[in-house]
Amino acid sequence: MTENQHSSQDTLLRTCAWCTQRLAADQETYGFGAKSNPNLELQNNQGEFVTLKLSLTEKIIIAYVVPEDSPAKDEGYDLLFLTCSEQCAQELKDALELEIDVFSD
Ligand SMILES: [Zn+2]
Repeated sequence: MTENQHSSQDTLLRTCAWCTQRLAADQETYGFGAKSNPNLELQNNQGEFVTLKLSLTEKIIIAYVVPEDSPAKDEGYDLLFLTCSEQCAQELKDALELEIDVFSD
């Protein structure tokens, strides 16, 4: 992994998945998991942060792709989201429910 890729991953790790506001190191964050649509091919991105485009709102969101051997995967999640506030988490959840092309339940 090059230094560039590393810092980009680090930036995504510290960015709200919904409003893309930067998260302070000591800031309380709100995370939750979701199951992705099987058509979404994320196998090559396991353990990485990726950006996804919501087709309905054309909004870019940030997701962490759960690796095969992680506890979150055992709970049935393919993606994890990290947000800056409960409100962002709720708005993101509401948006994901509409994105049936990307996510399944
Ligand atoms: Zn936010």
